[in-house]
Amino acid sequence: MSQNLKAVKGMRDLLPELAEKFRYIESTASSTAGLYGFNEIRTPILEPTALFLRSLGDTSDIVSKEMYRFTDHGGEDLVLRPEGTAGVARAFLCEGLAQHLPLKLCYQGPMFRRERPQRGRYRQFSQFGVELLGVEKPQADLEVLACGYRILKTLGVLGTVTLHLNTIGDQASRQDYREKLVSYFSERKSELSKDSLDRLEKNPLRILDSKDPSDIALLKEAPKLHASLSEDAKTFFNEVTEGLKLLGIPFEVDERLVRGLDYYCHTVFEFTTTALGAQSAILAGGRYDGLISDLGGPKTPGVGWAFGVDRLAELLPERQSELAVISLIPLGQEAEMKAVMIAEDLRGQGLRVELGYSGNLAKRMKRADKLGSQAVVILGSDELIKGLATVKNLKLGTQSEVSISSLGAHLKSLS
Ligand code: AMP
Repeated sequence: MSQNLKAVKGMRDLLPELAEKFRYIESTASSTAGLYGFNEIRTPILEPTALFLRSLGDTSDIVSKEMYRFTDHGGEDLVLRPEGTAGVARAFLCEGLAQHLPLKLCYQGPMFRRERPQRGRYRQFSQFGVELLGVEKPQADLEVLACGYRILKTLGVLGTVTLHLNTIGDQASRQDYREKLVSYFSERKSELSKDSLDRLEKNPLRILDSKDPSDIALLKEAPKLHASLSEDAKTFFNEVTEGLKLLGIPFEVDERLVRGLDYYCHTVFEFTTTALGAQSAILAGGRYDGLISDLGGPKTPGVGWAFGVDRLAELLPERQSELAVISLIPLGQEAEMKAVMIAEDLRGQGLRVELGYSGNLAKRMKRADKLGSQAVVILGSDELIKGLATVKNLKLGTQSEVSISSLGAHLKSLS
């Protein structure tokens, strides 16, 4: 194939089987989030670049190296959205939604990051996310966490999943910790990885995230974030952890979990799986009380998360198609056209109907079998004159003559 007709690196065609898993995951997530009062919002896929520079922070990996950023023909600086929260925050401001607080919104759709592609990591991937705006109490964190947990449970993927939880405190806690961390690492610069030297300058908390063995060794003796927590931050986190225990949602406190984006405070969390190799994070989020004000809006607390649909699709157990397939096989010229009419009538009754288009009976039966048909309806010209059809129940191996007028009811009674 010509080189330039391939899909863009890291971007995939979702063939029907996978696309159906995406649809199922998204609709399960959306109806579960609906139980918590989250309503869907759809925001544009293109956003002004300034939105992400101001919300994610220019030291984040996303902003510093992963954005699909371009100038359009009118000279506007634009980005294919790399995540959903910033767009929701922008819509909140542009659409005057502040008067509807507290507000619960959910979203879904493609996100774009120019990362190194590998299994479970794509340059175009889909996320589903929720945002709860306007509630500063830990009860909001609990609702949002419970919603994520319930979605994973409903999808049947909890088996390999662990919830990692941490607090990064309020601003005062982080300021204090940042100073302690900088002073500790400044004396050990020679042992730090190149990336972490950079982080020391720009965003020292992110050193906690490092996967580099020598950074990890240094971190063992480093000052602990929890020792810098203010009383308020401790109380807040305590309410979240106690609440999770009461809800029966298991979790592990992971003091090294800080998350890569600037806008988080207090609670941060990540659901990870052991079933997907290196790309183990499936659902992640936290509290972001400063985001809306950073974007120039009123001080508005927020908490939310997003999960990766692509990764959940890999975890999803095999599923049976929801609607049983019925195959119609017409035999003879006259029956061919009649079959189109009967198929239409059956679809009108809510049945999923496939037509056997061509080939001899054996060939058509084979195709019906391949489609996983529950039953095959054979329409012979002679039978049609008598208003009858032969129904073969492929699951039970039985066969009966049924009148065309009661075909729909008969087929429905099979499932
Ligand atoms: P983040 O916005 O980075 O917190 O990501 C939230 C979730 O989106 C992750 O836990 C993943 O499940 C998913 N995700 C993030 N980046 C990618 C990617 N490049 N490819 C596939 N899924 C991703």
